[in-house]
Amino acid sequence: MKILVPVKRVIDYNVKPRVKADGTGVDLANVKMSMNPFDEIAVEEAIRMKEKGAANEIVVVSVGPAKAQETLRTALAMGADRAILVQTDDMVEPLAVAKILKGVADEEEPGLVILGKQAIDDDCNQTGQMLAALMGRPQGTFASAIEYEEGHLRVTREVDGGFETVRLALPAIVTADLRLNEPRYASLPNIMKAKSKPVTVRSPSDYGVDIAPRLTVLKVSEPPLRQAGIKVPDVETLVAKLKELGVA
Ligand code: AMP
Repeated sequence: MKILVPVKRVIDYNVKPRVKADGTGVDLANVKMSMNPFDEIAVEEAIRMKEKGAANEIVVVSVGPAKAQETLRTALAMGADRAILVQTDDMVEPLAVAKILKGVADEEEPGLVILGKQAIDDDCNQTGQMLAALMGRPQGTFASAIEYEEGHLRVTREVDGGFETVRLALPAIVTADLRLNEPRYASLPNIMKAKSKPVTVRSPSDYGVDIAPRLTVLKVSEPPLRQAGIKVPDVETLVAKLKELGVA
């Protein structure tokens, strides 16, 4: 089975985002960028499935600028076999990404697509679900455990109030949640090896996808500053304060 893993280059999760002075978006100039953390988990899961013999090839794909090659190389260094960069400098919204991924999947015919549950820059949590709908395939979102059975996948999903287990007929779409696994670090020899793994560069028009935005960003602003708290000497004062504020 071939596994396709879409990986997005996003602002690093350790960076505190700054809003541009004109309020049109987040300032990305000279900011550290990395692979979306949930996509690292998706890559790790694909590698573990290959190590267990459930898969024989892992293809990673990114839709983004030329620099997204670095993100793809990271995935190759972790253990993916080859990569596809669908290159564009434009912002691509989840629906257009899902349409491009469908184009890639139609060509590659993977038995499984594992995405991150959400990208930490737009926080959309849409692409996997849209891809499953466009492809007419079963989906298991927010996966915290995946078990391969011949022709099927047993996926434990994190849902409000507990876990749900679903059995999907392959080919299927899965999105990775935080507790699915802990991604490995790439070793130096594997980073070197990744340099010679193949990366194919394509464009959105190769898949006939119009990436023109359908959403208009009106304004991006910082969240309001949190007010300072107060210290109370004992529980009685705390209860009195809460009553005074009408919350107890
Ligand atoms: P989102 O729906 O934007 O929150 O993204 C969910 C998941 O879709 C991500 O974790 C990635 O696996 C995939 N994805 C979203 N945008 C891209 C992109 N530009 N390139 C590759 N994969 C993407």
